Amino acid sequence: MTTPDAPQAAISLDGVSRRFGDAVAVERIDLELAAGEFFALLGPSGCGKTTTLRMVGGFELPTTGRIRLAGKDVTSLPPHKRDVNTVFQSYALFPHLSVIDNVTFGLRRKAVAKAEAEKRAHEYLDLVGLSGFGSRRPSQLSGGQQQRVALARALVNHPKVLLLDEPMGALDAKIRKSMQLELKRIQREVGITFLYVTHDQSEAMSMADRLAVMNAGHVEDLGSPQRVYDRPVTQFVAEFLGTCNVIPVEADASGARLPDGGAVVADAGGTPSGAGWRVGIRPEKIRIDPLGTRPSGPNRTTATVTEVTFLGASTEARLVTAWGTLLQAYKQNAGGETTIRPGDEVDVSWDASQSFFLPPTDPSPAP
Ligand code: ATP
Repeated sequence: MTTPDAPQAAISLDGVSRRFGDAVAVERIDLELAAGEFFALLGPSGCGKTTTLRMVGGFELPTTGRIRLAGKDVTSLPPHKRDVNTVFQSYALFPHLSVIDNVTFGLRRKAVAKAEAEKRAHEYLDLVGLSGFGSRRPSQLSGGQQQRVALARALVNHPKVLLLDEPMGALDAKIRKSMQLELKRIQREVGITFLYVTHDQSEAMSMADRLAVMNAGHVEDLGSPQRVYDRPVTQFVAEFLGTCNVIPVEADASGARLPDGGAVVADAGGTPSGAGWRVGIRPEKIRIDPLGTRPSGPNRTTATVTEVTFLGASTEARLVTAWGTLLQAYKQNAGGETTIRPGDEVDVSWDASQSFFLPPTDPSPAP
């Protein structure tokens, strides 16, 4: 809820749910997006991202809950009465209209004079790097260029909020990368709040100021990309955002222990107690040393190297601990050469500040 003193949220969802028959697509979501924020909704297929975005856009009504845009309750307003535009994966350009006519279409319907509409359209085509393309038809443009036209069209009337639903889904990997940088630049320049839906974690992490990871209709974690990557709250989030080593731990009053009895401490994730806890460590945070060379202390065990892959500057290693947990780690190559071989016994260690405890069962949404 917005308090009187808090800056007004650009978008606020308060206990929003959406059911389709018996199926729950979105379950009691609370979200607040600051004005000018680039916010990503991230999660696997079917987790409810698009339904959430469609409710903000007014294409779908919530079953319960309220949606506010800049403080105004828009829960049951139709799309055209909300100061929001949407960019879809399919671009939805008019094929029979030129680029300039596509971009001016909405302005002309709002009775903006032709010359003024075209002046604004040219500014936005400039912004998206398409000046000089105004007279082309969509069919004469590449997929990436069509996407830019869709973006210019959605921005030209300067909405308060832009919704983007997997807008790069149809682009190939290389163009996606360059569009990500472009989109971030454009968002900064126009200062409009972006709500961006994607299942691609690298896309969300590279562009978003903050992101929410959704799972089965609820928001499981929410924060800056770095916080959510470095200190995820559940194993689902840890693994959705990238590779994560997950080691079981046992905990009692004396602290947490690895299956071989070694002490474990982690700066994030709370204090384990009882069975079923795990500790998570990203592969790049695991250190590999020759057997017996690490001083004793917490967060230390031994493992056998099962596989090595030479990556140039480093080597990717697969390892197995004495109790059978598989691990992945990287080791810098001294003098450009791999110094570890399959079958080697090695010391494995990590810092408390670079690991996080994971609770036994991922928290479910509040009843
Ligand atoms: P994707 O990445 O595949 O687009 P998503 O995370 O955007 O997935 P949604 O499209 O929001 O997921 O769908 C969430 C759930 O709601 C899914 O189980 C989906 O089948 C269901 N759903 C969505 N729209 C409808 C509808 N109109 N009728 C019935 N079920 C629906």
